[in-house]
Amino acid sequence: MYDPNNVFARILRGEIPCKKVYESDTALAFHDINPQAPTHILVIPKGAYVSLDDFTATASEAEIAGFFRAVGEVARQAGVVEPGYRILANIGRDAHQEVPHLHVHIFAGRDLGRMLAKAPE
Ligand code: AMP
Repeated sequence: MYDPNNVFARILRGEIPCKKVYESDTALAFHDINPQAPTHILVIPKGAYVSLDDFTATASEAEIAGFFRAVGEVARQAGVVEPGYRILANIGRDAHQEVPHLHVHIFAGRDLGRMLAKAPE
């Protein structure tokens, strides 16, 4: 179930501020409050979707196209296509998803290392 009081829903309603970098009909992008790289931007759909699972199962073609085009556009506008960037979406408990509104992280601005840290024993 979607929690309408999650922090990104509140950002979308303008109840709490964000450092906005991009907005379209279907997506909003803003700087992460606790950046893990020199560039760390979050891209979220404007619709109420808990995760990528929910989104890809129930969103319209226009929402899906608009959202993924926004991810690429935000990276281009941030100037990170060269030398490169990483996108990441956490879905559910094992991925440690903290905010239950779909978001794609864009990381850039340093060598980001290999894909995944070794899991703790
Ligand atoms: P995840 O673990 O994928 O759910 O990531 C949630 C991300 O949201 C974290 O990187 C947080 O630093 C970020 N975050 C939480 N609250 C805010 C906020 N008010 N504005 C911007 N980013 C936030």
